[in-house]
Amino acid sequence: MDCIFCKIIEGELPCYKVYEDKRALAFLDINPVNKGHVLIVPKEHHRNFLDLPKDLLKDLTSLAQDLAQNIMDGVGATAFNLTANNGKEAGQQVEHFHWHVIPRFANDHLHHWPGKTFSDEEMKRFTMTIRKSI
Ligand code: 5GP
Ligand code: ZN
Repeated sequence: MDCIFCKIIEGELPCYKVYEDKRALAFLDINPVNKGHVLIVPKEHHRNFLDLPKDLLKDLTSLAQDLAQNIMDGVGATAFNLTANNGKEAGQQVEHFHWHVIPRFANDHLHHWPGKTFSDEEMKRFTMTIRKSI
């Protein structure tokens, strides 16, 4: 399989490893948003959040919680973003699930997503269609 993260896990490609256990690997993002930007990946290949077996998702999420403070402490950050991009339109470039842990600093010049405005009618319709699909 031509998956860059599987190759890193297999040791075929190098990485700046920060943590490893039986089921997961954590390493620095090669093109970091901020210093200390870490990716947490399962050793098993799964495409995205929806494809992850629930027990593995629990482990990875728990690991993200365990590592977040250490990552912040390691680079002197005061906050962090925990995100996962799922699907091309959401910006997913590597189709092997990964949590991004992005340390944040005061005045780091990163901006939150801009908000959009929808009418009350549209908001009610979105609520209805989502509720129906649950
Ligand atoms: P995505 O856009 O899929 O959510 O995030 C993929 C991330 O993987 C990007 O932030 C990108 O910089 C990082 N990345 C891509 N290729 C490599 C690589 O070979 N090594 C490392 N360490 N990170 C990579
Ligand atoms: Zn993979």
